[in-house]
Amino acid sequence: MPNSDSAFHPSTQDELAQFVATNAASERRPLISIGGGTSAPKCSAENGIEVCLDQLNRVIDFPARDMTITVEAGVRIADLTQILKAENQRLPIDIPQANQATLGGVIASNWSGPRRYGCGTMRDYVIGISAIDATGRQFKAGGRVVKNVAGYDLCKLLVGSHGTLAIITQVTLKLRPCLETSSLVWMAFDSLKQIDAAIARVLNGATRPIAIEVLNPIATRAVRPLAAAASLPILCVGFEGATKETQWQAETLINECCPFEPRSVETLSGSDADPLWAALTDFPIKNSSRTFKVNRLPSQTIELMQRATDLGISAKGHAGNGIIWGHYPSGSSSTFLLEGTSEPRLWEELGSSGDWMRRVKQQLDPQNLLKPGCLPIG
Ligand SMILES: Cc1cc2nc3c(=O)[nH]c(=O)nc-3n(C[C@H](O)[C@H](O)[C@H](O)COP(=O)(O)OP(=O)(O)OC[C@H]3O[C@@H](n4cnc5c(N)ncnc54)[C@H](O)[C@@H]3O)c2cc1C
Repeated sequence: MPNSDSAFHPSTQDELAQFVATNAASERRPLISIGGGTSAPKCSAENGIEVCLDQLNRVIDFPARDMTITVEAGVRIADLTQILKAENQRLPIDIPQANQATLGGVIASNWSGPRRYGCGTMRDYVIGISAIDATGRQFKAGGRVVKNVAGYDLCKLLVGSHGTLAIITQVTLKLRPCLETSSLVWMAFDSLKQIDAAIARVLNGATRPIAIEVLNPIATRAVRPLAAAASLPILCVGFEGATKETQWQAETLINECCPFEPRSVETLSGSDADPLWAALTDFPIKNSSRTFKVNRLPSQTIELMQRATDLGISAKGHAGNGIIWGHYPSGSSSTFLLEGTSEPRLWEELGSSGDWMRRVKQQLDPQNLLKPGCLPIG
């Protein structure tokens, strides 16, 4: 039974399945999955029930030698990080508000941060998922071993599904070892155009960055570890590995970028780099009433950031992936979400894939109870 009329905190996966099945057979109220609640709900449903996963936070199995872990979906990212660290392992995805965010929420929103360029996204780490569909049916996809190739890859379907197809209850992740150190080289340039040229060199250079981040001058002002950069646009390149290896990469990168005449250069290593990693990860957290994310071709990142700068928008780009986060200045009525970047709201707007997606939704949620009004896109 719900713990209140509008929120339910199950303490076991079976209890949740029972609750969902009863709801599907009787009241048929909309169900909104909530992990840590760090993102504003994309859609709210009248008379809906929030299904809060906070009590489903157990470690089911951690065979450290296999470098996999199976946990319930409500585990907080900060807790998961500590558990993995005890075995010198990690999930290399940068997540803001890690004390609050849950694994299920990160998977459902397919969140990724600066290390996406070198380490990939949640889709690369989820090897098994248990979930409950809208009828209360419990199902599993993938498994607990890294080599698992049988059947449809439902794991990937649920990554980025925003709670519209099923409630994720348990996850098996493949893990990576903790590395000896990481470093961040930041370089301030006179213009974003110079940064564009420097990035082209970095991408064809001798180093292997795990993050290539660009901040426009407005964003630089808001990032405390970059105070020395005054108000110039910044190129920030991250490396990980053995200490000698990262030192060599940082030095090589600086030499490669010299011809583009950076105004200032600084290399931060180990714990000295932590505040800047954290600031880059937390940048998307809303600091204005209007925050946006757009995806473009990596080659278009700088052009878009220049347009944002001209409009007074604070913007940061994952330059290697073409993802840009921006915050409008307060009081701005600009509609700068850029042409063609608004998210589809109707099945028809999804084009030919919409038909397939509608059929998948119909299979898992025939009564349209899971976040009705939202599309399963991530
Ligand atoms: C400024 C900002 C805005 C953001 N806006 C959004 C946004 O609008 N939508 C978004 O999805 N992410 C958004 N994110 C990303 C999100 O905050 C991160 O991915 C976060 O790590 C999610 O963890 P959480 O536990 O807080 O998830 P929550 O905020 O609780 O939920 C995130 C999404 O996942 C779904 N969900 C949560 N748990 C489960 C589960 N167990 N099974 C199935 N679905 C589940 C929710 O319904 C919701 O769609 C935003 C992040 C920032 C910084």
